[in-house]
Amino acid sequence: MAEKCTVCNEKIETTFLEKIRGTYIRKGKKLEAICSNCQKKLKNNSDK
Ligand SMILES: [Zn+2]
Repeated sequence: MAEKCTVCNEKIETTFLEKIRGTYIRKGKKLEAICSNCQKKLKNNSDK
C-alpha cells in the first residue's frame, strides 16, 4: 500500500521491509505518514 506524505502530498517509497522512507506522526487517533524530506524540515523547525 502506497503511503502519501501528509505535508507535501508526494508518494512515499517503501523499503523491501515495507518500511516507509520517512516516519509516522500521530494525530489524534490517526497515524499520518511523512516523507523523509519533510521529516528533515520538521526536525529542523522543532530544533529552533
Ligand atoms: Zn513530504
